[in-house]
Amino acid sequence: MNNKYELIYEGKAKKVFSHDDADKVIIEFKDDATAFNALKKAKFEGKGKLNCLISSKIFEILEENNIPTHFLEIKNENTMIAKKINVIPLEIVLRNIAYGSLCKQTTIETGTVLTKPLIDFYLKNDELNDPLITKDRIELMKILSSRELDFLIKLTLKINEIMKSFFKNIQLQLVDFKLEFGYDSKKNILLGDEISPDNCRLWDLSQKNDTIISLDKDRFRNDLGGLIEAYSEIYKRINNSSNLMK
Ligand code: UDP
Repeated sequence: MNNKYELIYEGKAKKVFSHDDADKVIIEFKDDATAFNALKKAKFEGKGKLNCLISSKIFEILEENNIPTHFLEIKNENTMIAKKINVIPLEIVLRNIAYGSLCKQTTIETGTVLTKPLIDFYLKNDELNDPLITKDRIELMKILSSRELDFLIKLTLKINEIMKSFFKNIQLQLVDFKLEFGYDSKKNILLGDEISPDNCRLWDLSQKNDTIISLDKDRFRNDLGGLIEAYSEIYKRINNSSNLMK
């Protein structure tokens, strides 16, 4: 990145730089992958580029469906321009199928199709290991008011409906995903962060048998191999579907 731009923040998978316009930022997607609160780390050449391209497409689809997001435009293959937001320190996870931590922490069996989407909140705090928190605790900590929380829940459910049907059309099952939101300079709540196989579980529906084929970060979490191939497949399907719509 050109050094006229100041590095504002560096996370596990992205770097955020200043922009000439104070209301915008430049987000660079890195090739680094982490799992289990960064206990497991690796680098996958090309992951940053794929996640940036996938995220941009998904943000465009959400915007077309009236979901306010921070996405403005793609700058180059691994960099996007976004509206600057003040990130709300919450990770909102929506689950359609029980998998991952839900099955480790409860007696719900892996693969159970949930009768209605489950929304879980986690506090974004590395020192505390991003704990699962309740709505009452969010209000108690004054992170969000009850009204704002209800608004975010509704928005997350709407995002799920849009993404679930979009992915189904390209033969992908949206198992679960994590969202982050923030406030822009006018105090509007916008969807931020990224929407990619790093923070969505996506299963291949193009196979005839019942075996689960993960095309997401579980390839790294569970040492399945073929992460770049899986992310490339997702990008290919998204791209083909948007070319068809043109
Ligand atoms: N997730 C995420 N960041 C996190 C934790 C979870 O993006 O720090 C995503 C994850 O990719 C999955 C969903 O949220 O799509 C649910 O993850 P889960 O709670 O099952 O956690 P995990 O199994 O990753 O420990």
